[in-house]
Amino acid sequence: AKAAGKDQAAVYDVSLRLDQAERVRLLERLRASVDAGEFAVHYQPIVSLDDARPVAVEALVRWTLPGRAPISPDRFIPATEDSGLIVTLGEWVLRQACADAVVWHRRWGTTLTVNVSPRQLVDPNFTTKALAALRDSGLPPDALTLEITEGVLVRAGADAHQALLHLSALRAEGVRVAIDDFGTGYSSLAYLRDLPIDVLKIDRSFMPADNADTQQAALVRAIVDLAAGLGLTTVAEGVETADHADLLRDLGCERGQGYHFARPIPAAGLMALLSGADTR
Ligand code: C2E
Ligand code: CA
Ligand code: CA
Ligand code: CA
Repeated sequence: AKAAGKDQAAVYDVSLRLDQAERVRLLERLRASVDAGEFAVHYQPIVSLDDARPVAVEALVRWTLPGRAPISPDRFIPATEDSGLIVTLGEWVLRQACADAVVWHRRWGTTLTVNVSPRQLVDPNFTTKALAALRDSGLPPDALTLEITEGVLVRAGADAHQALLHLSALRAEGVRVAIDDFGTGYSSLAYLRDLPIDVLKIDRSFMPADNADTQQAALVRAIVDLAAGLGLTTVAEGVETADHADLLRDLGCERGQGYHFARPIPAAGLMALLSGADTR
């Protein structure tokens, strides 16, 4: 068993640069893990910068093997995307997150935001699956935001039209759409024009290193103003310090997410955090 454990660790460590045989083994483990319940959804608060109150939570998937630390999604999401397994995993995450978040939404009005991979958006059944997750959980559509990256249309390729149809159909039901990691992809401005979106998340790489970093601050200001002009809600990612939070508030950014406020935590911890915020 010890040898097998070591063998598995080697597979996870190279998950970003896999050769064919390694990829097959990783995918076998991933498939078995979905069945074995080794995935969990953690939640990170998104706060209103005016009063630091949590207004939303982002669902972030975790892969935890017995007796091990959780494996970062950056390490296994790419392989699930290449293989198409993300369609199954993504649907599981969405259903789990809606089921968890409905309780918080009823009690505190907290909304939910879930990452969606380009592969999920070219699945002809995506709209049906998303609406079923909402219906089965009881979470109202306007309490759900789907996060997509700027590259979604590029990576959807010939199926870009299909992806757009899903986003438009879900928006017609009240679901919101957010652009994730804004500013890091290509053709940012064309995407703002062409994609049906409601929220813009400023990538954490734009957070200034310190108060002297006026160039970064100028970029954040430009993005916040651009979003405001387009009627979009802005969320700053990677808010790690009180200085970040102060700067963002001064620039008119509405919402923030980052270690300064809270790290991603399991559902039970998030519930406790929201209860605490409630009694302030
Ligand atoms: P993301 O969507 O940009 O999610 C934000 C990431 O930034 C999370 O990493 C979060 O833990 C981290 N983060 C939050 N606050 C801070 C901060 O103040 N400083 C720093 N340095 N980092 C912060 P995580 O959970 O490891 O997720 C990594 C990426 O994996 C996500 O980036 C997203 O692209 C992907 N991902 C996670 N869950 C899912 C999922 O269910 N489906 C899909 N398709 N992708 C997912
Ligand atoms: Ca995200
Ligand atoms: Ca992001
Ligand atoms: Ca990211």
